[in-house]
Amino acid sequence: MNKSLVALVACDIYDDTLVYEAVKKALGLVAGIESFVKPGEKIVVKPNLLIGSAPEKCVSTHPTVFRAACKIMLEAGAIVSAGDSPAFGSTALVMRMCGLAPVADELGVTIADFSKGIEVSHKDGLLVKHFTIAAAVMEADGLVSLPKLKAHGLCRMTGAVKNQFGCVPGMQKTQYHSRLADPWDFGTMLVDLNMAIKPRLYIMDAVMAMEGNGPRGGKPRKIGAILVSTDPVALDAVACKIINLDPEFVPTMAPGEKAGLGTYHVENIEIVGDKIEDFICKDFDVVRKPKEHATRGRVRAYINNRISPRPVIDEMLCTKCGICIEHCPVMPKAVDWIEGDKTKPPRHNYNRCIRCYCCQELCPEGAISIKETLLGKVFFR
Ligand code: SF4
Ligand code: SF4
Repeated sequence: MNKSLVALVACDIYDDTLVYEAVKKALGLVAGIESFVKPGEKIVVKPNLLIGSAPEKCVSTHPTVFRAACKIMLEAGAIVSAGDSPAFGSTALVMRMCGLAPVADELGVTIADFSKGIEVSHKDGLLVKHFTIAAAVMEADGLVSLPKLKAHGLCRMTGAVKNQFGCVPGMQKTQYHSRLADPWDFGTMLVDLNMAIKPRLYIMDAVMAMEGNGPRGGKPRKIGAILVSTDPVALDAVACKIINLDPEFVPTMAPGEKAGLGTYHVENIEIVGDKIEDFICKDFDVVRKPKEHATRGRVRAYINNRISPRPVIDEMLCTKCGICIEHCPVMPKAVDWIEGDKTKPPRHNYNRCIRCYCCQELCPEGAISIKETLLGKVFFR
């Protein structure tokens, strides 16, 4: 069996020239851009644009990484567009807020419309055999994914595999959370989605990662690396090694290997470029525990609700914007105003909460964090 190649190249700062050189070098170590993109092909670039946020917050793929990837593909003769389906706001607005729109304007990269979906059948899916995927993605010749390395409440970490969730248009993403309450089912769906889209290449921005209350409310943490691979599972596994996280804890790894998307076993991965030992952050703030399965049945659900980590609102930080309520996928809502009073912070109902952590992911103030319960601490120990 051929090993999966993951290129790892040092890049200390977000400087246009340095990032371009690092991405170019990493691509060369994997195979060179001409192996992935032919002149005249329509390529969609998919950065992580979770939400409109300044680049230094490390929520989205940095503009310098976006610039380098687009520039290299344009130099290879591709017709390049870029897009994502952010949690809220239009792609154009979020790209502007994240600092990507001026880069796109300058390079002549058009904004791809991710709001319209087309039906895609994926008969071989492990769990999901039918998706609605942004038409701009399926009508292009290929997709190049630009994930950002971040801690993640639901998946432990977000990287190459998770980045394609933004190819599902708008609020349809929410339905997957409510339908697939078990994190391992959710991870399997992400794998199926990647198999349906088949991105050509993954270029990870790990110059600055996000640790802690990610993927939106965490803290920037320097890693100083660009990673490139055609195998998103192997790329994420290498990223896990860097942040000292067991890949077995990430719910996209085992299904990713089972589906043939890639491998997370070190013996099947060859890291080329710089030495991984120089990048390892042993104390990277991420949850180092197996991801819990959701339980089914009333009694088990009752117990589960008392041991699964909970989203908790810091009332001092809450601005009562209501975004957490809007994005909670369960009905009736598992986080809501107390008796309709919008002058006070919302409150969670943990018996209804499926622990999808959308509220934590999307709170603009980082006011929601995931906390272990007392019983959960005892149980998991
Ligand atoms: S999203 Fe955050 S700030 Fe807004 S109401 Fe919910 S907890 Fe408060
Ligand atoms: S309250 Fe938060 S974690 Fe619970 S179901 Fe709603 S969005 Fe998901």
